[in-house]
Amino acid sequence: MAGAGGAAAHRDLRRLVRGDLLLPGDDEYDDARRVWNGAIDRRPMLIVRCADAGDVAVAVRYAVRREIELSIRSTGHNVTGCAVSDGGITLDLSGMRGIEVDPERRIATVQPGVLWGDFDRRAQADGLATTGGRISTTGVAGLTLGGGMGWLMRRYGLAADNLRAVRLVTADGMTSRADRTADADLFWALRGGGGNFGVATALQFRLHPVGPAVTGGAAFYPAAVAGPVLRWYRDFVQDCPDVLSAQCNLLRLPAAPFVPAELHGRAAVAVAVCHLGTESDADRDLAALARLGPPLLHRIGRMRYTTLQRLYDNAGRFGSLVYGRAGYLPALTDRAIAALTGPAAPVPSPHCIVMLSPLGGAVARVGPTETAVGHRSAGFSVSVDAVWQRPADTPAHRQWVDRLWDALRPCTDGVYVNELGDEGPDRVRAAYHPVAWSRLRAIKARYDPGNVFRLNQNIPPAGAGTTASGEKAPPAAAAQPEMTTAHGIGERL
Ligand SMILES: Cc1cc2nc3c(=O)[nH]c(=O)nc-3n(C[C@H](O)[C@H](O)[C@H](O)COP(=O)(O)OP(=O)(O)OC[C@H]3O[C@@H](n4cnc5c(N)ncnc54)[C@H](O)[C@@H]3O)c2cc1C
Repeated sequence: MAGAGGAAAHRDLRRLVRGDLLLPGDDEYDDARRVWNGAIDRRPMLIVRCADAGDVAVAVRYAVRREIELSIRSTGHNVTGCAVSDGGITLDLSGMRGIEVDPERRIATVQPGVLWGDFDRRAQADGLATTGGRISTTGVAGLTLGGGMGWLMRRYGLAADNLRAVRLVTADGMTSRADRTADADLFWALRGGGGNFGVATALQFRLHPVGPAVTGGAAFYPAAVAGPVLRWYRDFVQDCPDVLSAQCNLLRLPAAPFVPAELHGRAAVAVAVCHLGTESDADRDLAALARLGPPLLHRIGRMRYTTLQRLYDNAGRFGSLVYGRAGYLPALTDRAIAALTGPAAPVPSPHCIVMLSPLGGAVARVGPTETAVGHRSAGFSVSVDAVWQRPADTPAHRQWVDRLWDALRPCTDGVYVNELGDEGPDRVRAAYHPVAWSRLRAIKARYDPGNVFRLNQNIPPAGAGTTASGEKAPPAAAAQPEMTTAHGIGERL
């Protein structure tokens, strides 16, 4: 049964938007409110399945005028479930999946519902790519606006570093383009500030020649030698060229076809790589792996870049139960290695993982406040992620994360905003450089003084009417333009 608010919004918006409107009880409502984290169960009063930027603008104005909570859902991968409002209006952008590639200018323009798998496939048709997430079903929009880490980042920077322009609908319901010259402050904030400044309806990226063949995959060693492997890894990444990105991950070998049956479920430490150079360069740069002795399983070889980008896809399915903690390690110290090999470390089940990813390279060559992304000079990002299916297994998995994180946290400094759970305002602030934080708050006050876009890792607007904890301030005082049906605007950059 639809509530009165939802029914009224449905009636008012029905004639103004081109996309579908879903109320509780509608056939597709439950699917549309689901997110990647199966523990999230929120019920918007109305889901607006936006067909284009015009729909977004209409829905934003409607919600702001009536002070209805608003959430932005691109592909629903954020673990906090902030993409879905409980009782308000959710803008579902997952149907906006247009991609245009200009191979001559090496530019891709995409709508916010695009997944990295779609992006990679389209760009690779012209031998091009940009830094994107390591799981092909993750969304382009949320990942990029928060920073965007992936296999290509040491060579080509973060996803946000490759943004050329963003078209977005701001809290006043207006559509504008932000780039290095137009709304430059806003463009600066969008590269790391997440969904705090408006709804991105199109994102334009710089592309680079990649592959199509790269060297990728992983070598797996017994968990019993995790200590020596981590110490070897610490030295190895010091000398890696930018074309090589190597993770060190603690996991359990999955019951997958590439794993011999006798190794299914075995605790292991994996060195996972992506090398963008020629096969002979990759062989040379990876020769040091031989010092670790024979692995349990060696699965490193030449493959398509698009294949590498799908290797982790089975790590967890949509709707799994998830819980995690993450942070940046300035360095992989002996203390951090002791935590990663101590009594709290053993990974409890096959979809859980501890992931160490090196930064450096092009990420570190961008100045600390050149974009809003924080902690660029960190050595590694580290995440402890539990993924499981049965509610009965929840306590054991949460306990694993909490215990290991207790041991690891003192070695960390700051956090990647896209990996934050619901951890409170101090942790959000810890994602940013102090200078960037003040600038972000000032820009938020200019573009979203009423904190309309607050279902996110919230950056509270600077100044009067705002609490330091990011609670909602009074709605924006700026006059709202009349509702229009300006469909079609905002999708092209
Ligand atoms: C399986 C998995 C793998 C991942 N791998 C990586 C990885 O390799 N690298 C990495 O950097 N991160 C990774 N992440 C984290 C990922 O960056 C975040 O979860 C990100 O929020 C997902 O983006 P989304 O568009 O799906 O967000 P959603 O869950 O749809 O939305 C989350 C929030 O993002 C903001 N947002 C989303 N779309 C828009 C928009 N169009 N305009 C304005 N704001 C918007 C809003 O604040 C929204 O509340 C991964 C997450 C998962 C679950």
